[in-house]
Amino acid sequence: MCAFDKKEWSKEYYQKNQDHFKEYDKEYRQNNKDRIKEYSKEYQKKYHQKPEVKEHKKEYRLKNQDHFKEYDKEYRQNNKDRIKEYQKKYHQKPETKERQREYQQKNKEKKSEIEKRYWKNHKDKQRVKWQNYILKNKDKIKEREKEYRLKNQDKIKEREKEYRLKNQDKIKEYHKEYDQKYRKKHPEVYLKSNIKQLKKHSIPFKLPWKQYRFAVQSWSKTIKKNYPVCVICGSSHGLNSHHIFYKKLYPELSLNENNGITLCHIHHRELHSLN
Ligand SMILES: [Zn+2]
Ligand SMILES: [Zn+2]
Repeated sequence: MCAFDKKEWSKEYYQKNQDHFKEYDKEYRQNNKDRIKEYSKEYQKKYHQKPEVKEHKKEYRLKNQDHFKEYDKEYRQNNKDRIKEYQKKYHQKPETKERQREYQQKNKEKKSEIEKRYWKNHKDKQRVKWQNYILKNKDKIKEREKEYRLKNQDKIKEREKEYRLKNQDKIKEYHKEYDQKYRKKHPEVYLKSNIKQLKKHSIPFKLPWKQYRFAVQSWSKTIKKNYPVCVICGSSHGLNSHHIFYKKLYPELSLNENNGITLCHIHHRELHSLN
């Protein structure tokens, strides 16, 4: 018997016993449901992994890009919950986590570079986003901060101490600026404290504060006459008279002509900021 005859014969045999075969097929399918499922799954997997199939799929997708995009969009919209659920499950898998960790370690530098670039390009957008978030969640943020502070009191104190030590000059500058602004805003407060000081310093001389102020002004003029330039840099611009023994500590020497030198504005400020 040659191959052709064999084929012909089996075809004939099948046609003759069609019903019987169909019945047998059905029975077999019913009894081996799981096996068939498993097998077809595997077959599909293998089929889709074939390079020619992959190539073909790629080409097909490229040809029908727009259609696919539309379809994708629709599918995503209709299956939001399902996709979320799937993503959750996928990210919880230990092998996924392991893979992510490996990938992150491998691409650490790349990642940081990409992140940097991203932040650079989205600076303004991100800032607006943050601002909006802060505005919307003020109470929440405050509550969280409170909690954090309560939990990490010692840590925060330590950190603040460190910061203060590191930024002494910066803080001093800041306080000075704040002081100046405050004085400009509230001249009456400054005047009040000024008068208080004058009253205090005038005690040894038994003078009313207004007269004492006049006396200090004339002392200042005398010092400037004695030293017509800054004793440090020799400048003759913006001169101040400076008490060698400070008024605050030795008010009784505040009108003594030997207790004064002339300093320019800059060196006067510098000298006082040293103390
Ligand atoms: Zn001074
Ligand atoms: Zn000077």
